[in-house]
Amino acid sequence: MNSYEYLTPETLDSAVSLHQAHGDRAMYIAGGTDVMVKIKSGKIAPDYLISLRHINSGKEIVLNRETGELSISAFATHRMLEKSQLIRLHYPILYDAVRNIGSVQIRNVATIGGNIVNAVPSADGAIPLLALDAAVEIYGSKGKRRVDLVHFFEGPGQTVLEPGEIVTKIVAPALLPRTGGAYKKFGRREAMELPILGVGVLLSLKKDSGKCARVRICLGVAAPTPMRAVEAERFLQGKKVDEETLHRAGEIAARESRVRDSVRGVAWYRREMVGVFVRRMGLLCLERIKEKEMLQ
Ligand SMILES: Cc1cc2nc3c(=O)[nH]c(=O)nc-3n(C[C@H](O)[C@H](O)[C@H](O)COP(=O)(O)OP(=O)(O)OC[C@H]3O[C@@H](n4cnc5c(N)ncnc54)[C@H](O)[C@@H]3O)c2cc1C
Repeated sequence: MNSYEYLTPETLDSAVSLHQAHGDRAMYIAGGTDVMVKIKSGKIAPDYLISLRHINSGKEIVLNRETGELSISAFATHRMLEKSQLIRLHYPILYDAVRNIGSVQIRNVATIGGNIVNAVPSADGAIPLLALDAAVEIYGSKGKRRVDLVHFFEGPGQTVLEPGEIVTKIVAPALLPRTGGAYKKFGRREAMELPILGVGVLLSLKKDSGKCARVRICLGVAAPTPMRAVEAERFLQGKKVDEETLHRAGEIAARESRVRDSVRGVAWYRREMVGVFVRRMGLLCLERIKEKEMLQ
């Protein structure tokens, strides 16, 4: 393992300046659960690690009561999301995902920002955020910008971030009324293992009917980046959502997934499982919508 200097800026501006000063010899580190593994394995050898943990911009998870917009600090840990009442009660799709990331020890330090920037096809945090139509707020030497998550990933390990840019926040628009969400990480074990597949469904029903007002079907480990199954979404839009239509949507999602063979699962099996879990997560969304309505 190479030696590196560990820098601890306290503001976004000083972190960006340090990155500019050291160029590609420097790298940001948040929780370090990806960075340190790569350093130890010799995949990367930065001379400077610029820590984002001391930046005093807060680590909040906030719902704007007026606009209904959810705002999550990129520096929030998975454990903070898991322990948040707001996330557990109103964003079960995200709760399902974060509570199974790694172990408690990993979740205590690993951040949602690091999960997204790492940009692996299996990133558990990214799939529900994609389903929530989230965008990321980015800060760099040229100022702030916002990019929809759907346009953020460019390939495995690749994002639209320019050198030195920092993801500061993830924001998701207000949920429609009558919305339910669910996420399944499918693997031989639910934790401490790379999944065979990740499936997230966010479903909103029309007022007084069982018809689909909006749906997002998002898949992990089904393509080089987290993806939306847009044909399956289009199929469900406006239709009555039941076992039969969800089964059909699952078949369409399976067809449009770009799964491939790997040591964790062969492509045909993964494709079958896309169909199975799209249907199951859709049914769970319906259950969760009903449960919520009963409590109101
Ligand atoms: C044992 C173990 C189990 C794991 N299990 C899972 C799992 O079940 N599911 C899963 O999805 N992941 C898993 N991971 C991967 C990892 O924990 C997550 O991806 C985590 O969210 C990364 O966050 P971090 O803060 O540790 O990122 P870091 O390692 O600090 O950084 C990751 C990358 O993002 C960059 N970066 C970090 N934050 C920012 C930011 N705000 N702006 C710009 N760049 C930034 C860093 O420069 C680096 O390139 C596991 C890892 C380990 C070691």
